[in-house]
Amino acid sequence: GQDPRIAKISSSIRVIPDFPKPGIMFQDITTLLLDTEAFKDTINMFVERYEGKDISVVAGVEARGFIFGPPIALAIGAKFVPMRKPKKLPGKVISEEYSLEYGTDKIEMHVGAVEPGERAIIIDDLIATGGTLAAAIRLLERVGVKIVECACVIELPELKGKDKLGETPLFVLVSSA
Ligand code: AMP
Repeated sequence: GQDPRIAKISSSIRVIPDFPKPGIMFQDITTLLLDTEAFKDTINMFVERYEGKDISVVAGVEARGFIFGPPIALAIGAKFVPMRKPKKLPGKVISEEYSLEYGTDKIEMHVGAVEPGERAIIIDDLIATGGTLAAAIRLLERVGVKIVECACVIELPELKGKDKLGETPLFVLVSSA
């Protein structure tokens, strides 16, 4: 059977229809953060999966990967690397572009944050089309990092984001219809 923690995590996530625009069912994880048990269980489930796997990098995608990533990194003894929106990081960066419904966006990482040969997980709150995580994978692979897995709290399976990740496995706690 399913881990009993999943149902509580799932029910702690608030769904807000038509935010930020009509037709989007926004998965609001701020209510998960208010539920001390659900938040702790969320972090623990990732820690249980990744501890002892020789992972030295937890890469978090702006913005909500910055909430879930650091406690996991601390618990498994890995460093936390922020993958940011353009023009936020002050040092020299490498960046990777990805396409949106209209136009393109970019994520950036500091040069020197990771070394070739390191083993990483990439974390975000949610995978929708998979474009963001696919760009994060490309960025880290360009600098020789092995992506062990992408990890998300929520997946919107109808959007088939997993198909964009190629060989990289995806681990999610909650699938949302
Ligand atoms: P994508 O690149 O399409 O997989 O989109 C993933 C990014 O957009 C993540 O950083 C999510 O936080 C955000 N996102 C996309 N769709 C939703 C949604 N329905 N609810 C909350 N966040 C979303």
